[in-house]
Amino acid sequence: MRISIIGTGYVGTVTGTCFAHLGNEVICVDVDPKRVEMINKGIPPIYEEGLEELLKEHAGKNLRATLDYDDAIENSDISFICVPTPSDENGKIDLRFIREASKSIGERIKNKDSYHVVVVKSTVVPETTSKVATPVLEEYSGKKAGKEFGVGMNPEFLREGKAVYDFQNPDRIVIGADDKKAESIIRSLYSAYNCPIITTDTRTAEMIKYVSNSFLATKISFSNEVGNICKRLGIDTYKVMEAVGLDARISPHFLRSGLGFGGSCFPKDVKALIGKASEVDYEPILLKTVLKVNDDQPSRLIQLLKKHIPELNGKKIAVLGLAFKNDTDDIRESRAIPVIGTLLAEGVDVSAYDPMAAEHMKRVFPNVKYHRTAGDALEGVDACIIATEWSEFEKLNGDFSRMKGRIVIDGRKVVNPEDKGIIYEGLCW
Ligand code: NAD
Repeated sequence: MRISIIGTGYVGTVTGTCFAHLGNEVICVDVDPKRVEMINKGIPPIYEEGLEELLKEHAGKNLRATLDYDDAIENSDISFICVPTPSDENGKIDLRFIREASKSIGERIKNKDSYHVVVVKSTVVPETTSKVATPVLEEYSGKKAGKEFGVGMNPEFLREGKAVYDFQNPDRIVIGADDKKAESIIRSLYSAYNCPIITTDTRTAEMIKYVSNSFLATKISFSNEVGNICKRLGIDTYKVMEAVGLDARISPHFLRSGLGFGGSCFPKDVKALIGKASEVDYEPILLKTVLKVNDDQPSRLIQLLKKHIPELNGKKIAVLGLAFKNDTDDIRESRAIPVIGTLLAEGVDVSAYDPMAAEHMKRVFPNVKYHRTAGDALEGVDACIIATEWSEFEKLNGDFSRMKGRIVIDGRKVVNPEDKGIIYEGLCW
């Protein structure tokens, strides 16, 4: 099929490349000329495991990128909207990019004779497709949704860092559509995958994505709360959660206590669901608490540091790990941000390292000293904080000898506490 992808970030680039790999003709559209140029050269604008190889295989063949909506909509039969849906200043979803993309697509559908399907893949609160995207598409195309063009909602469940794998090995595919023709066209694109396909209306599809992310965020905050209690009781929370996770009703995933969740999805999606609930006059107490537990973990880590170094002013502290999780260069809502922010406010000289994300963090904290290796970041510091679960931090033992003080505060349980040279403190263990 001929597919256009609107927005070439994590979701758009991975979706476009994987659809091309399935044999489709793909045109990616972005408003950012740099991204378009990179994709046409076969260079992914974001880091994702396995993406570069795949993009190189298809760029210039059955995948290309453009700034030109006319070209993209004219030469495709289905468009996937993959633009950002950030939080506004009140935590509610900001649908500006969805409106803009819908307008741009609608203006081009106007001149098309053939039936075009528009699919919202961005994460949007229930009713966005039917009450925001569809009316804008109808207004600018002058055509009727469900008759002269199709509309669908196909949420994306990929994990950053493992996005290509997840796209190609889905647990389930959710297709929301308010008309059968659109539903069957979207479904046909996924015929290569042997997993359950849930078909529903667009509102339910939108809600499924929020409930999935909110549930995972809840599991993390729950595990962190359990970890905070276990720490005080001197119980190993990892042993507790290992046993708890063996219950098939619970599953072992997302039970690792620590510094909390970040990234472009969990914090914003939980906030957006809270915002949507308040619109329908419901106060989601549990979801609000999930965010509160998450927001408190970085300050708990600083408190632990202060147990060892009560006066932080003038001290030199290493922060290892800046990305919001391992295997990505994404720092959006990274827990390292509040940690570094607090340290700087307390007058600390921060020495930082991350295998991938330092360039992005430089824009947030230009005054921090960034190093090329973890060992260099540890040189002469009074203490070290582990903020991201990079596997290379499991093998730091020799590097700790470069520290002046030997205090290691681990927010992710990656460091081996058996290393005789260090004073080890786990956040929840
Ligand atoms: P991103 O910020 O990485 O990329 C978005 C891209 O859209 C950018 O390249 C931007 O230039 C482009 N864009 C903005 N307005 C545009 C327009 N009018 N026309 C064309 N391009 C435009 O975003 P992302 O992380 O890929 O997320 C996109 C959506 O997918 C969001 O709703 C997000 O919540 C959701 N989502 C993200 C993930 C994830 O892991 N990142 C996973 C599942 C769902």
